[in-house]
Amino acid sequence: MTPAVATASSCARCTLHAESVFRVEGMCCGEEAAILQRRLTPLTGVEDIFADIVGQRLHVKYDAALLSTHVIVEAVAETGMRAWLEHEEPLVPPSAAARGVLVLISGLALAAGLGIQALGGPAPMSVSAFVVAALAGAVFPGRRALASLRIRDLDINVLMLVAVVGAMILREWAEAGTVVFLFAIAQWLESRSMDRARAAIRSLMSLTPDVARVRTDEHEETQPVEGLGLGTILIIRPGEKIPLDGVVVLGRSDVNQAPITGESLPIDKGPGDDVFAGTINGHGAMEVSVTRRRRDTTLARIIHLVETAQAQRAPAQQFIDRFARWYTPGVIVLAVLVATVPPLTMGMSFETWFYRALVLLVVACPCALVISTPVSIVSALAGAARRGVLVKGGIHLERLAAVRAMALDKTGTLTRASLAVTDVIAAAGSSEAEVLGSASAVEMRSEHPIAAAIVRESRGRHLSFTASSDVRALPGLGAQGLVDGQMVLCGNARLFRERGLLGPTAEALADRITASGASPVLIARDSVVLGVIGVADQERDVAADAIEHLHREGIRPIVMLTGDHESAARPIAARLGLDGVRAGLLPHEKVAAIQALRREHGVVAMVGDGVNDAPALAVADVGIAMGVIGSDAALETADVALMTDELSKLAYAIRLSRATVRNIRANIAISLVLKVAFVALAVTGLATLWMAVVADTGASIIVIANAMRLLRHD
Ligand code: ADP
Ligand code: MG
Repeated sequence: MTPAVATASSCARCTLHAESVFRVEGMCCGEEAAILQRRLTPLTGVEDIFADIVGQRLHVKYDAALLSTHVIVEAVAETGMRAWLEHEEPLVPPSAAARGVLVLISGLALAAGLGIQALGGPAPMSVSAFVVAALAGAVFPGRRALASLRIRDLDINVLMLVAVVGAMILREWAEAGTVVFLFAIAQWLESRSMDRARAAIRSLMSLTPDVARVRTDEHEETQPVEGLGLGTILIIRPGEKIPLDGVVVLGRSDVNQAPITGESLPIDKGPGDDVFAGTINGHGAMEVSVTRRRRDTTLARIIHLVETAQAQRAPAQQFIDRFARWYTPGVIVLAVLVATVPPLTMGMSFETWFYRALVLLVVACPCALVISTPVSIVSALAGAARRGVLVKGGIHLERLAAVRAMALDKTGTLTRASLAVTDVIAAAGSSEAEVLGSASAVEMRSEHPIAAAIVRESRGRHLSFTASSDVRALPGLGAQGLVDGQMVLCGNARLFRERGLLGPTAEALADRITASGASPVLIARDSVVLGVIGVADQERDVAADAIEHLHREGIRPIVMLTGDHESAARPIAARLGLDGVRAGLLPHEKVAAIQALRREHGVVAMVGDGVNDAPALAVADVGIAMGVIGSDAALETADVALMTDELSKLAYAIRLSRATVRNIRANIAISLVLKVAFVALAVTGLATLWMAVVADTGASIIVIANAMRLLRHD
């Protein structure tokens, strides 16, 4: 125990929640994760520990009043692994070279021993060569074995050493040398393939440049991105990667946003448009004013979210953890029985059965099984992130695979986010300019797509208006605000009925708009109806296609949930081939509609815009927000976030989730079948020690390779 823990434990009230992320060298597999968990959990002040095996990271939530990071680092060091705070990573990873040399010595000694044996050389010479091979190869596993014994744990290293010592007792010198050498090679191969997986995943999050070209008065100079503040003017040349999020102030260009959104077509950017760190400038030069520091860029958030997503355990993982907990001790008990029962009760050869027990020991480590789920999930999440689909954890991926029915919001989801004003009709005593002007004053402060359409129309007509104060959004109904001391109300017929303003005038105005197929937005000032604005939305070009793909995946029913009027919603739903429409819904009615769908059809996904549809997204089994790039709220709340509003990504997400679940099942099956087969082969005496070693690591490598296929899944 470390002294810091003992002294601090007297202070129980002053909790100071903290979370630190450590990189851990030597944590390659579930075994080591379990060791760390067991070593750290008893530390006073530790609240939660999560080991991200694939990322080689350890997330520790703790009470900073009771525990400091260096106590954690020391505790990790006691297990034989090394940890450091993520941002303090050392430049040279230690011990890799020493390890390689020892493996080489082991291999050469083994070859020498086998050679001497084959040539009929003296036995003491070949035996000593085998012993050298065993000793050189056992240095690293031996260190690990000691560490795990110190915390009373039996990991693969301990089991392997016991097996090797046993082989030596049986005078199987060649076998002992071979097994150690193979084990060393196998572990090296396994950590190599894991490293490759890590590198592939990390490279997806293609990094942003470290330096940027900055405009200082009259000058241009290169400065490190890290220190750049908001409002700094960056000069982006053609073909360069954009270093920070910002807004274009000068110039025009096409920007390839694929690194963040997965969208293949470049987007036109001009003054006033947002650009994002990590995206690639096309043919034009631009000047961009920085809107976010390096740590807050959209890309940084995405990377952070993917990393935390990896840290969440999927349900399949929990099953495996439970299984692994009894598997290893179970096989060890079996090994003891195999070594003792047949010789003692049936008088069979002790040597034969002891050897079989040793093989069983090697088979007792379920390493491939333990990594089977995390590697699949991590590569699926990383592959999805590259295509602009952010899934917030394995659990959402598994639920997505089970989705039966889907509900989609209309405005901004099935239809284009930009609507058009079709009509402006003034009531007697008012004018079109007055109707649009007062509406725009309020709508300027609203984020609804309808609001943007109205404001755009007013700007197009060169009307002048000032933003109103005290604007309140009335979800599913409209918005209200104060303009020159008068209350202006904009919204649908339902809102006007609620406020007692839906007299014959208002109704007649609304009907004229509805008859044309558009949706009416009524405007009133101080309870006097000024007129109505007709807005129409247009379904997205790809929407019908996307729905068809979802149907082909067996998602049915697919229904539209909208707050809009039935007469505007029906024709769109019919053209898109939806299975149902629920119109005129308030946000809480959308929630009820989702619950009804779930009762009737099972797992339901809801697709919406993340801001207006937040309650419905939250209540669905999977909440999918669209077009979230640039909207932090939506990015944080949804279970699945689509960076752009490409509806085609929905079917991709479903396919990927199902492929992931299949991949996990295959991985579990591969590792279980191999283990069970080897337990049987070991008991019947058909398997040798070296075969068991090869099977053990072979399974891990197969599992990793299989999981990596998800990175490229389309
Ligand atoms: P959808 O479900 O189609 O996305 P919402 O629930 O966001 O629609 O809104 C439902 C209805 O409420 C809209 O069709 C419109 O009539 C009205 N509404 C909502 N917000 C506004 C606003 N800012 N201005 C005018 N009308 C609005
Ligand atoms: Mg909406």
